Amino acid sequence: MADQKKLALHWKIVIGLALGVAVGVLIDRFWTPGTWSSIGVNDPRSFMAKRAGEVFASGVASEANADAGFVAGAVRFIANANTLIGQLFFRSLRFIAVPIVLCSLTVGVASLGDLKRLGRIGGKTIAFFVLTTAISIAIGLTITDVVAPGKQISPEARAEMTAQYKSNVEASVGRTSEVPSFWQQGLDLVPPNPFQALATAQMLQVIVAAMALGAALTMIPQAKSGPVIAFFDALTEAIVMLVNAIMRLAPIAVFCLVAPAIVIMGLDVLSAVGVYCLVLVSGLAIVMLVVYPIMLRIFGGVGFARFFKAMSPAMLTAFSSSSSNATLPVTISCTIKRLGVSERIASFVCPLGATINMAGTAMYQGVATVFIAQMYELDLTIGQQAIVVLTATLAGIGTPGIPGAGVVMLVIVLESVGVPAEGIAVILGVDRILDMCRTVVNITGDAAAAAVVAKTEGELLTEAEVATRNAE
Ligand code: ASP
Repeated sequence: MADQKKLALHWKIVIGLALGVAVGVLIDRFWTPGTWSSIGVNDPRSFMAKRAGEVFASGVASEANADAGFVAGAVRFIANANTLIGQLFFRSLRFIAVPIVLCSLTVGVASLGDLKRLGRIGGKTIAFFVLTTAISIAIGLTITDVVAPGKQISPEARAEMTAQYKSNVEASVGRTSEVPSFWQQGLDLVPPNPFQALATAQMLQVIVAAMALGAALTMIPQAKSGPVIAFFDALTEAIVMLVNAIMRLAPIAVFCLVAPAIVIMGLDVLSAVGVYCLVLVSGLAIVMLVVYPIMLRIFGGVGFARFFKAMSPAMLTAFSSSSSNATLPVTISCTIKRLGVSERIASFVCPLGATINMAGTAMYQGVATVFIAQMYELDLTIGQQAIVVLTATLAGIGTPGIPGAGVVMLVIVLESVGVPAEGIAVILGVDRILDMCRTVVNITGDAAAAAVVAKTEGELLTEAEVATRNAE
């Protein structure tokens, strides 16, 4: 078989990822301000901000870099090309995210056949999401309480980081005023204009519109609904073909996305809040490697290796893109093609999960809240921690599946228990890398839910059946 000769896609992506991390770490370690001056650049920021072709122009911004030579120009060219490839990949996935939610969810709901089934499957899905999210936060809080990473941050380090990230914190806190009230969020579920919801990628509204359309299609005669469902179904298939094509670029794109993420973050900040990162990553690992596998084994009859092998391209895409929404097309495709979940269950559970199921993000919001409270020597009572579990569960649901969204909703969790939002300054420097990790957990939960729900509905193929089908 051709597959045996060629390296499987997920291994290629792993290699891209490992190389991206290695190159990012090397640049972070060895590329110093001295390196910049040796190639004639004394203001790297303004030099890198200039577009190619303006290298030697004597504009205000580049005056400081008038001596920059060929090597510097080449460095900038490579950096720009790298960004272009990474962003093209990211954009292509985002390009697909809204249409796939609309098409696949409409077909998913319509093909459930009747509203009773929709209620049953919807109920199981939401129960899985809420249960695993609450378990996830509880695990995170327990480890944070035991290890107490916040007690290891000295007041000096806290002051230094607060000064350094002041403007970023103000931006995050400012953005929470954009977060609508609970009542407004309820109202916002229904789009006044579904086309506007599509155009502005309001995922929750798109979900409501698609579910309403799908449900209505089950209520009209099949002779009429058939062609509409077939239309959306064919569109979904065409989109999945596009995803497969885009994923060929994934190994290179993952490299291009991860290397700069590490360089921009800088590893020094990691040492300052290393214990906090370790606590969160261990918590996320427990959910990934223990909680989901147990649920999958007990309720889905799916083994650890099978699940991870099937979902690895989606997990790696989530890690490099930090976006559940952008990863959604890959999540759907892997869940159906590699894991063997029926199309209608995957089309229903995955889009819903990418928008509302954020077990990783909710754990992050819980851990960060207790960490910041510890740093300010505010000991949260059990009652307050219960409030954190509740608000983080809701904040997770309200967090859009886009990069860096979790930190904005974190402010709301902090405020719910009176922890100062300025504390975010200390964790902002590492947010990018932790965003990558929590997004993996977020989408893993969606796939696990799809497998479990499919199993209980008798719509999950066995591993052998998947292999036979894919060989056909
Ligand atoms: N980036 C996350 C996601 O897309 C959300 C977050 O935690 O910021 O799933």
